[in-house]
Amino acid sequence: MSKRQNFSTSTLCPVCGTRCRTLESDQVTPLYREVHYQCRNDDCTFMFVASITPVRTIVPPKVENPNVVIPRLSRGHHGTSHAT
Ligand SMILES: [Zn+2]
Repeated sequence: MSKRQNFSTSTLCPVCGTRCRTLESDQVTPLYREVHYQCRNDDCTFMFVASITPVRTIVPPKVENPNVVIPRLSRGHHGTSHAT
């Protein structure tokens, strides 16, 4: 049985689903990166900017940077969302 692994960093066009070309990326802050994408589909040619930001810690970093605060992994499986 073969696992399906998608380690590609490329992004699919949100409109037509075609793989996008990375035009440029800009590290705005240590926690915020913008990537410019262009859809490879000639009938679409959608160009857009996507943001990349850490949202959750899987393995905490072994070094510390006081300027960077990454959200820690929350304990437990079920989130405590209060629907009020
Ligand atoms: Zn497209």
